Amino acid sequence: MSIKENLQKVKEETSPNITLVAVSKTKPVSDIIEAYDAGQIDFGENKAQELQKKQPELPDDIRWHMIGHMQRNKVKYIAPFVHMIHAVDSYKLAKEIQKQAAKNDRVIDCLLQFHIAEESTKFGFSKDEFFEVMKESNLLELKNIRFRGVMGMATFTEDQDQIRREFKHLKQIFDQIKDQIGPGFDQISMGMSQDYKIAIEEGATIIRVGSSIFGARNY
Ligand SMILES: *Cc1c(COP(=O)(O)O)cnc(C)c1O
Repeated sequence: MSIKENLQKVKEETSPNITLVAVSKTKPVSDIIEAYDAGQIDFGENKAQELQKKQPELPDDIRWHMIGHMQRNKVKYIAPFVHMIHAVDSYKLAKEIQKQAAKNDRVIDCLLQFHIAEESTKFGFSKDEFFEVMKESNLLELKNIRFRGVMGMATFTEDQDQIRREFKHLKQIFDQIKDQIGPGFDQISMGMSQDYKIAIEEGATIIRVGSSIFGARNY
């Protein structure tokens, strides 16, 4: 199937009020153009330098989502144009985003990444850690960051119940933070090719889908 047909199929399984981020990491610019020409506007990359390289070669109205773990020294490459940073997982990173956003005279939408999977390899705050950081810092008052919600990745497993439990956990964390931040905090980024249907059932507002649209990645 073509990229266009794949996109169509994924869209049929979501609803119009869910943002579909087409994850184009490792894929050539020509694939992104094909998706763009089929009406796709939101794209996701997980490496700052790859994103920095692709962005000028592609239409200006693309909304670029930085979905991967970020090293602080890479924030400057994407701060001028990035639409949303999904994986804020430390106060230090938030402070660097604040600095680079201010330099570019922008307010950048960000999500707080939480560690919800059993695997120890996935990044993110634990719930306790986050509330500690929130108490002890001005994390949520950084002027050039608008915290819009949370992001998480489920364990890579066939066990659908486990995936569902992990997404439910992220939704609970979201609800708890929303009580403190208020109405502008309204996004839950969860669900990838293998689990976006479960994520939607559990309240996702943003899904990040790569291989189901662009095909398998060869690294
Ligand atoms: C690669 C990636 C995705 C998309 O993964 P697929 O399984 O190809 O849909 C989603 N989120 C993050 C953070 C990723 O790195």
